[in-house]
Amino acid sequence: MASDVIVVGAGVTGLTSAIVLAERGREVEVWTRSPSAETTSALAGGLWWPYCIEPREAAGQWALRSLAVLTGLAARPAETGVRMVGGVHAGVVPAELGAWAARVPGLRGAGAGEVPRGWDRGVRARLPLIDMPAHLDYLQRRLAAAGGTVSVRRVSSLAQVARTARTVVNCTGLGARDLVPDPSVHPVHGQLVIVEDPGVEEWFTVAAEGRADTVYVLPQPYGVVLGGTARAHVWDRTPSPCTAQAIISRCSRVFPGLGRARVLGHRVGLRPARPRVRLEAERLPGGGLLVHNYGHGGAGVTVSWGCALEAADLAEG
Ligand SMILES: Cc1cc2nc3c(=O)[nH]c(=O)nc-3n(C[C@H](O)[C@H](O)[C@H](O)COP(=O)(O)OP(=O)(O)OC[C@H]3O[C@@H](n4cnc5c(N)ncnc54)[C@H](O)[C@@H]3O)c2cc1C
Repeated sequence: MASDVIVVGAGVTGLTSAIVLAERGREVEVWTRSPSAETTSALAGGLWWPYCIEPREAAGQWALRSLAVLTGLAARPAETGVRMVGGVHAGVVPAELGAWAARVPGLRGAGAGEVPRGWDRGVRARLPLIDMPAHLDYLQRRLAAAGGTVSVRRVSSLAQVARTARTVVNCTGLGARDLVPDPSVHPVHGQLVIVEDPGVEEWFTVAAEGRADTVYVLPQPYGVVLGGTARAHVWDRTPSPCTAQAIISRCSRVFPGLGRARVLGHRVGLRPARPRVRLEAERLPGGGLLVHNYGHGGAGVTVSWGCALEAADLAEG
């Protein structure tokens, strides 16, 4: 065997999986079709919240494991891109969230006056808000410090990669649809608008699981991220001006200053959705171990460390 571990994919799933393995002493190479800055992970809004991911129960556990890691990283925001920021998730009370909610420190029902006009209930919490371009840079530096490497190269057969490495970890997101192949992996289209910050200090989201149009406002260092859409099976990555206008209009009902803010950019990303996350190992005919870690939908950042820790356990095979 030429290699010990090859992780395919350099989004948040691939990099965190590679880091956990490298920090446990494995020799890790990451192979990726596109650099981390061009992955879906790079354009994620970056709020810790288990949204649009199945199965619920397991996602809650992965999210909580990640919360502990991300809370630690938030002690060094300039280095890691992670900050703890307060905000409101409108439209639900804590008891309507999963069992995970009871284990999020400080999460509580929002009091009268804390929920914007138009909603009568909500949840308040202080959560990790992650500047993804900065965080991916941090993850790459941390991987390099642990001896891991990243190369840009496309994989056309996992079985072929498995012939050159003892363990292969498949973190290809939507790419798994063709690579595995796994037709149950599909896109959930998300459009975002980035605007100049008119002074938004807290994040705001609305309970909109399963709805095609959502509302979220995430103050990031590079601008305020306004969302969004969640359209299953839509592949088009061209930002729609009409959708952008509708997003700005929905968000400015919550923070009126957003309606007048200068637009800095438009983004479209495709969430790698699956009926359930695939996090399991299979033994290949040649004896190699293939660990799958993909299909995290709208919460890949939220569950990244929890899934990476479990993937690394599976890789011990
Ligand atoms: C608009 C939007 C907003 C979002 N906001 C949030 C949020 O606030 N919080 C949150 O938790 N999540 C959010 N998400 C979801 C999150 O972005 C994804 O769940 C996460 O990025 C998935 O990460 P990944 O590493 O699995 O996949 P990706 O980031 O897509 O990475 C896949 C990697 O695999 C590589 N690859 C694929 N095929 C091959 C191949 N054949 N050979 C070699 N390499 C290959 C790619 O090049 C890439 O490096 C959002 C998503 C979108 C679209």
